[in-house]
Amino acid sequence: MIRDPETLTLLLDTISRFVREKLVPQEAHVGETDQIPDDIVQDMKDMGLFGMSIPEIYGGMGLTMEEEVMAGFEVSKTSPAFRSLFATNNGIGAQGIVIDGTEAQKQYYLPKIATGEIIGSFALTEPDSGSDAASLRTTAVRDGDFYVINGTKRYITNAPEAGIFTVMARTDKDRKGASGISAFIVEKGTPGVSLGALDKKMGQKGAHTCDVIFDNVRIPAVNLIGGKEGVGFKTAMKVLDKGRLNIAAASTGAAERILSDALQYARERKQFGKPIGDFQLIQAMLADSHADIYAARCMVIDAARKRDEGRDVGTEAACAKMFASEMCGRVADRAVQIFGGAGYLAEYGIERFYRDVRLFRIYEGTTQIQQLVIARNLLREGGQ
Ligand SMILES: Cc1cc2nc3c(=O)[nH]c(=O)nc-3n(C[C@H](O)[C@H](O)[C@H](O)COP(=O)(O)OP(=O)(O)OC[C@H]3O[C@@H](n4cnc5c(N)ncnc54)[C@H](O)[C@@H]3O)c2cc1C
Repeated sequence: MIRDPETLTLLLDTISRFVREKLVPQEAHVGETDQIPDDIVQDMKDMGLFGMSIPEIYGGMGLTMEEEVMAGFEVSKTSPAFRSLFATNNGIGAQGIVIDGTEAQKQYYLPKIATGEIIGSFALTEPDSGSDAASLRTTAVRDGDFYVINGTKRYITNAPEAGIFTVMARTDKDRKGASGISAFIVEKGTPGVSLGALDKKMGQKGAHTCDVIFDNVRIPAVNLIGGKEGVGFKTAMKVLDKGRLNIAAASTGAAERILSDALQYARERKQFGKPIGDFQLIQAMLADSHADIYAARCMVIDAARKRDEGRDVGTEAACAKMFASEMCGRVADRAVQIFGGAGYLAEYGIERFYRDVRLFRIYEGTTQIQQLVIARNLLREGGQ
């Protein structure tokens, strides 16, 4: 749902200019240093990007899902690390509170998240529990007005920057599956919370992940999200349904940028006396990429509209995430091919995108997990 087309166009133009003028020139620098410069982070805060999907009453922009994916297309036409910082914050880092938090939790945390004063992270994955998230082992044991949390979370995006974590932990040790899991807000400064060493990753330099260790961490019982035990896994899945649409939008925006670079190269690079774009085999790669992107864009917007209508988009979000992330991988691979030897060299930036976008097919549920979700829903619903 687009509430006011004029306001949205203004926002998208502002983001687009910011990406072109401020972020694109910094891509190589961020790729080399693994750090997003402070002035850029401040610009993102000033533009309100840290609060894009936080409701307006809590200080955010309150974008609808359709507006958010449109913004996501634009912010993703550059290195994914830029988006990762603010979009993980008000995306999976805050949505547990937005969707299922108590009024007091919303009022206390969301305004700080919306301004970027504190960064939120989402802590579900563990060393022995990835795709099978419901088997997680982190425990939260009630002790009077407190819970005591023990366990280790792995690959947590923005953990080094985070001020709070949404932590999924088992409150009922007798229930092995999803129904024994609850979600908590844990502040980083709480005694017993520590971070592992920074992960060395294939790509997305500038976006940081590491282990988060909880060693007898006592948190107030009021930090149980929604004030209810046993529904934390459902909260996590609702957060991920939305997150998957955002990753699908990010994959689509990144593919648009990669294709744009490949088109420019195909126009400029000459072989056999003419631009390589004149060769039909190159044209086929460009055309396939464009059609792929168009299909992903339509899918993402359709799923976003359905979510805005209040419909359950578990299947659509999984379809969009799976298709768009795989599509982006194909587009990046073709772009390296179109660039030839230059595609393999760091100087041209295409190999960096190739590495960066590989992650889209892995996190927030691998392609195989999306397939399982889609098939399970189809079989359960009995339709198509
Ligand atoms: C850079 C990065 C950032 C991340 N950020 C976060 C974050 O902020 N918060 C968070 O909680 N997690 C985060 N993750 C974790 C991420 O979501 C998981 O890595 C992902 O869900 C896969 O889990 P796994 O790595 O344990 O792989 P595994 O679950 O061990 O899977 C290994 C392989 O087996 C396949 N597989 C598993 N089960 C099945 C099955 N039933 N059928 C068919 N194939 C199957 C998988 O598809 C995959 O190919 C991040 C990961 C990375 C790398």
